[in-house]
Amino acid sequence: MKEVDYIIVGCGLASIAFCEVLRSHGKSFIVYNDDSQKSSIVAAGLYNPVILKRFSEVWKAKEQLKSALPVYSKIEKELNITIDYKLRLLRRFTSVQEQNKWFTASDKPSLESFLSLQLVKNNNPEIDAPFGFGEVLHAGRIDTENLITNYKKFLTATDSLKKQSFTHTKIQFEGDAIHYENVQAKQIVFAEGFGVKHNPYFNSIPLTGSKGEILTIKAPDLKIDYAVKSSVFVIPLGNDLYNVGATYNNEDKSNTPTGAAKEELISKLKTFITCPFEVVGHIAGVRPTVKDRRPLVGRHPEQSNLYVLNGLGTRGVMIAPYVANKLFRYIENGERLDDEIDVNRFK
Ligand SMILES: Cc1cc2nc3c(=O)[nH]c(=O)nc-3n(C[C@H](O)[C@H](O)[C@H](O)COP(=O)(O)OP(=O)(O)OC[C@H]3O[C@@H](n4cnc5c(N)ncnc54)[C@H](O)[C@@H]3O)c2cc1C
Repeated sequence: MKEVDYIIVGCGLASIAFCEVLRSHGKSFIVYNDDSQKSSIVAAGLYNPVILKRFSEVWKAKEQLKSALPVYSKIEKELNITIDYKLRLLRRFTSVQEQNKWFTASDKPSLESFLSLQLVKNNNPEIDAPFGFGEVLHAGRIDTENLITNYKKFLTATDSLKKQSFTHTKIQFEGDAIHYENVQAKQIVFAEGFGVKHNPYFNSIPLTGSKGEILTIKAPDLKIDYAVKSSVFVIPLGNDLYNVGATYNNEDKSNTPTGAAKEELISKLKTFITCPFEVVGHIAGVRPTVKDRRPLVGRHPEQSNLYVLNGLGTRGVMIAPYVANKLFRYIENGERLDDEIDVNRFK
């Protein structure tokens, strides 16, 4: 029998953030992961403190960035990988009114450190942007595929990863302990993304799920090293490759790329990119979204050693370390969870 403090189900952004909190507090754990959900691995990985539709601040943007970036930087050092790419992020303006809205928004105390006051002129002949761009400061991209691939290797090397589906009906409760196959744990944290729908303990949490698809294109003439946000994002990956995305579909909950999404992304891209490009990749996943756009964190109402860490929505990169910390302090120190993130707020 292997004894650990925690079993964690899932190995996406939520789980990795929680593993890092556990490691920094010297807690032992084992992770169970299948690859049934793809959200973290297909994510564009942007961290961006501004909602670019409305020019407003992302919920707790400063706290989230403060919490998240040191975690990714620590992983980079310990795993000897590069995952955090600082990135200029330019919002393409479609009119003079939009320019004015941007400069009005940049006066707000919550946004002044994130919205540049310089109007960026377009000097790239392959981009149609007569009204120029606004630049978001402190944005970047986490290469989530590289992060997850290497984190799994690290967990495997420390004998902390079981590459298998977790079967909830096999959990046995014995006193304060939990037994699962040959593992004894004090707590289980479910970080299953949209897969939580198959978890009988937490399948009623109000997760809606929003499928997203991304294309990778090769565009040798485009030559940009910054990300552009217009009707879609264009994110440079190097070697003339760019990610273009993403779509939002609340009906289809599969991870299968579709022709309709491909067409939608290509037609939106062509509204502002004029050079030829070739589609070389196409991926899809289901974001664990929630109606009120806040995470779902907390304890099972009856089983006091079962917890959920979910609802990271469209911004898992920034939110995951912030909420992982909150959950740990709730479990270990009895600190109250903010009502805004508490999974029980809907009751
Ligand atoms: C197209 C797209 C683009 C995105 N772009 C961005 C972006 O630019 N920036 C950003 O911050 N966010 C982005 N997101 C959102 C981000 O991906 C999510 O917020 C985040 O990945 C959710 O992480 P998670 O760990 O909660 O869930 P998941 O990534 O779904 O991870 C859950 C894991 O648990 C495993 N699992 C589930 N059930 C079981 C079980 N029973 N047994 C074992 N394992 C199980 C799954 O297989 C999976 O590995 C994007 C998402 C999509 C789909």
